[in-house]
Amino acid sequence: MYRTKSCGELRLSNVGENVTLAGWVQKVRKMGGMIFVDLRDRYGITQLVFNEENDKALCDKANTLGREYVIQAKGVVNKRYNNNSKIPTGDIEIIVSELNILNKSEVPPFTIEENTDGGDDIRMKYRYLDLRRSNVRANLELRHKFCLAVRHFLDSKGFLEIETPVLVGSTPEGARDFIVPSRMNPGQFYALPQSPQTLKQLLMVAGMDKYFQIVKCFRDEDLRADRQPEFTQIDCEMSFVEQNDIINTFEEMTKYLFKEVRHYDLGDEPFLRMSWHEAMRRFGSDKPDMRFGMEFVELMDVLKGTGDFAVFNNATYIGGICAKGCASYTRKQLDELTDFVKTPQIGAKGLVYARVMEDGTVKSSVDKFYTPEVLTKLGEAMNAEVGDLILILSGDDAMKTRKQLCELRLLMGDRLGLRDKNKFALLWVVDFPMFEWSDEEQRLMAMHHPFTAPKPSDIPLLDTDPANVLADAYDMVCNGVEVGGGSIRIHDAVLQAKIFEVLGFTPEKAQEQFGFLMNAFKYGAPPHGGLAYGLDRWVSLFAGLDSIRDCIAFPKNNSGRDVMLEAPSEVDIKQLDELHLKVEQSK
Ligand code: ASP
Repeated sequence: MYRTKSCGELRLSNVGENVTLAGWVQKVRKMGGMIFVDLRDRYGITQLVFNEENDKALCDKANTLGREYVIQAKGVVNKRYNNNSKIPTGDIEIIVSELNILNKSEVPPFTIEENTDGGDDIRMKYRYLDLRRSNVRANLELRHKFCLAVRHFLDSKGFLEIETPVLVGSTPEGARDFIVPSRMNPGQFYALPQSPQTLKQLLMVAGMDKYFQIVKCFRDEDLRADRQPEFTQIDCEMSFVEQNDIINTFEEMTKYLFKEVRHYDLGDEPFLRMSWHEAMRRFGSDKPDMRFGMEFVELMDVLKGTGDFAVFNNATYIGGICAKGCASYTRKQLDELTDFVKTPQIGAKGLVYARVMEDGTVKSSVDKFYTPEVLTKLGEAMNAEVGDLILILSGDDAMKTRKQLCELRLLMGDRLGLRDKNKFALLWVVDFPMFEWSDEEQRLMAMHHPFTAPKPSDIPLLDTDPANVLADAYDMVCNGVEVGGGSIRIHDAVLQAKIFEVLGFTPEKAQEQFGFLMNAFKYGAPPHGGLAYGLDRWVSLFAGLDSIRDCIAFPKNNSGRDVMLEAPSEVDIKQLDELHLKVEQSK
């Protein structure tokens, strides 16, 4: 046996036992005639002791050990004289009698410690070393527990885990596809699934009733901290259900996961539900962070046309938020906020602020345009008290201005410490619009996806006012992050054809792209619906991570590269020939 115990399990009760351990050398310390080695494996760290007086040759061997050497050590468990209360094995040590060096190691390019000295790039290049760090490993352990709990819960509810293919057809109407050339079908391509959406619907037509899958999805999008070109979904679908059935099932699952995996009690109350329109109006976001208030107050009545400030007088939306206790913000702090909203990503033209002074009067950056009475009204409208700071944005596009104000609200939430990573606020955002206008495409696009059912009462509007049709779609939001989303689906071929028509497909094009689904609907499709959760996002929320990368074993960087595997890369000309492909030099 390579080992009889792990490096994380020995305690005082094991003192006197003969054991064999194996693992990596974390640290070597020399003190007088003694050598102390911290031996690490997945389960923990155990101190090994070599004593020159006992065995000089063994000590000489221990002296050759370097960081990350792989060794096997035999010895007896001893009570430690200077115990280390920081680690579970800190009460014991191993007096080593035999040492075998199983493999040497070059000096690792960064320290294998929780707080490593390695930057992002180098850690990704040597990800297998990065994964040896206990905090990174803990994220993967959490992910494993999470998946196990998901499977346990869904199995208990009768869901079947069914695999769907990875080589599928290209789907218009989504993000950009990754495509794979087919050698056996020259000039033709598979696409990697952006999600198993249509396949899970076909599984409902097939009578599977309740499906789930923990599944890789692929989208060729520009990347941000919470996006990866390949990511994992917990994909679910149910037959003979209405929106409430789905919401109830997955709310129960969410509470279960929080309790089992995060040890956090979400309570017995149902989650808050908020319509998309309300979320946009009150928080400027379809994924509002409900850990704190700071709701928007619309100020058109108070500030438009009540003074000489042209910016407000020309605005179609004026909105404010009230930052409690921030009236003492310095000029510099306020300038920082102004710079923030003016950054190109946010794109506001400027920021107006007002403070509620000690004497209750309101002083603003646009004082000269307004009477004290108007400013008092502003304070009242904002429900502001002495010491509060009012921050106001305006613009000629209400939706855009609300989104800008949302960014400012989140920043102020951060500044005021209102976004505690150990608190969780969940809600369902429901009643999404069915379509959104695309300037680029000059047509309506599906806001969720084209298989989403409109609200039954809105079906007549498809002909007269499609832009105002609401969908039976819902998102689950946690701490300002969309963790999952789904919808009731269309199960009727005629209605599905109608939606394709609104989306600008000719009947021929719809048949060509989605014929497989519409044909299936002719053979008795049950009413169905479902949702999908982003596993990476959810696990990173549980782990309190800023980026989903840290809970993925081998993630890609912001340019979609795996710097460890050096992928993507060029391929042999022979491979290209077989695929009937020719690469043009990019201009
Ligand atoms: N397939 C959808 C998505 O990936 C989720 C769903 O509607 O079930 O967003």
